[in-house]
Amino acid sequence: MASALRNEDIVRIGDDVHMVTGSDTNWVIVKDGDTAVLIDTGYPGDRERLYASLAAVGVAPGAVAAVLITHAHNDHLGSAEHLAVTHGTPVLMHQEEVPHARRDFLHQVTIGQVLGQAWRRGVAPWALRALRVGGTAHIPVSGPRAFAVGGPLDLPGAPVPVHSPGHTHGHCAYLLPGSGVLVSGDALVTAHPTSRVRGPQLLPGMFHTDRARALDSLSVFEAGETGETGETSGVVDADVLVPGHGPPHRGSVKAAVAAARERAEGRVR
Ligand SMILES: [Zn+2]
Ligand SMILES: [Zn+2]
Repeated sequence: MASALRNEDIVRIGDDVHMVTGSDTNWVIVKDGDTAVLIDTGYPGDRERLYASLAAVGVAPGAVAAVLITHAHNDHLGSAEHLAVTHGTPVLMHQEEVPHARRDFLHQVTIGQVLGQAWRRGVAPWALRALRVGGTAHIPVSGPRAFAVGGPLDLPGAPVPVHSPGHTHGHCAYLLPGSGVLVSGDALVTAHPTSRVRGPQLLPGMFHTDRARALDSLSVFEAGETGETGETSGVVDADVLVPGHGPPHRGSVKAAVAAARERAEGRVR
């Protein structure tokens, strides 16, 4: 099982925004008074840490207004169904991610793909940790709901979904306009145990459903558009990147995207 949550696993990003690191993966708590929205939930085995993190920032589990999912991989979806069943929490995501969260299909790296990369530094230890915290558990969300894309959601922090497909088809990042934070999920990360580099980057290729499309989606963050309505989402003005994996990155998100693209295209290693 996962170990207990430590103080240093919770990073205060802004007045009401906290990033929490579980088993090699992050979730985000966006508060508004006594209520909050939870963006992602860690692995199934991170459940105790997830509840401990809510308690640490003063949010009762029953007061979580919604779980927003960046994408339905097990390291992000882990306790979504538990919150829904136990507390009636709505589990919201992009419409293209809804069947994935129901597990009508699974677009997640397979054990075979991981074994094929096991000679790479970091891959085998990461895979063993992931297995221990439910990386391959079958944990469908029974009633995932789609939100309307195209503007801020009526939730704490007024998050703006930014469809950024490629890692999965329905992957969404979330812009928190009031705090200048982009919660980028796995569309743009800053580190991963299987990556040799630190700093803004795409995850290694085996993790993406469609890597070419994931690379294309970086332009969604640069252009500051939602990608569907053409409305400016303000992503270009964000100055803190809170990724699904790795530490937060403070500084221009636009510059972070440029750095990730250079790495992904092989100009920087
Ligand atoms: Zn993922
Ligand atoms: Zn992930």
